[in-house]
Amino acid sequence: MLTLERLSAGYGRMQILHEIDLRVGAGEIVALVGANGAGKTTTLRSICGQIAPLSGTITFDGAVTAGRRPDELVRAGLVHVPEDRALFGTLTVEENLRMGAWTRTAEQAERSLAEVYSLFEILSERRTTVAETFSGGQQQMLAIGRALMAGPKLLMLDEPSTGLSPKLTWLMLEAVQRIRDTGVSVLLVEQNAKQALAIADRAYVLESGSIVLQGTGSELADDPRVRKAYLGL
Ligand code: ATP
Repeated sequence: MLTLERLSAGYGRMQILHEIDLRVGAGEIVALVGANGAGKTTTLRSICGQIAPLSGTITFDGAVTAGRRPDELVRAGLVHVPEDRALFGTLTVEENLRMGAWTRTAEQAERSLAEVYSLFEILSERRTTVAETFSGGQQQMLAIGRALMAGPKLLMLDEPSTGLSPKLTWLMLEAVQRIRDTGVSVLLVEQNAKQALAIADRAYVLESGSIVLQGTGSELADDPRVRKAYLGL
């Protein structure tokens, strides 16, 4: 679904990512974990076309992404939920969700709306509530729901556990697993390695802009280096 080959990227003359290789297969949850400043967000920005790579290639659904605008990539099924969630605070839940369907036909939007409401009961119950009154966890569910309205093939989540209690994080990650079970691939960027590795099919560890470890979620969760550096064990 997504392949990064020797991807290098940065800002101006400052190189942040150094020849990263990463792959997300169809129907997989892949976690990208690493400390603050490791380059996780920069990786997502490169994939969704917000910043141009210095070198290397990104292939999504069989076609290279170079030269394609972010909105073209959304139409192709590459959808990103940014860390700040970027909700429309004064709009209702349903209005926010409908904003996510700007690439879809009316019929597709109605179908996706029904799917989002069945996935997140809280959104269905609060469809006329204004988004800014929501708690952090509810806002994260809404941001993910809005991304689903675009009909993604690959959903990229940037630190979805930010500001959430461990319990709410588990609820949100359970929803991410249900999304994967509907056939959507997920690239999950997290500082919270413990919970991300617990649900990931495969994972990568990013340190100072390089991939230093990779494996299945459980292999990495058991790896002594990961346990010491990221799980505090
Ligand atoms: P975090 O958990 O803090 O988001 P991260 O792993 O996502 O960490 P990035 O946000 O990719 O890390 O940042 C990697 C490096 O790039 C950091 O040193 C950061 O200061 C720098 N950086 C990020 N955004 C910019 C920018 N717009 N201009 C210049 N430097 C930036």
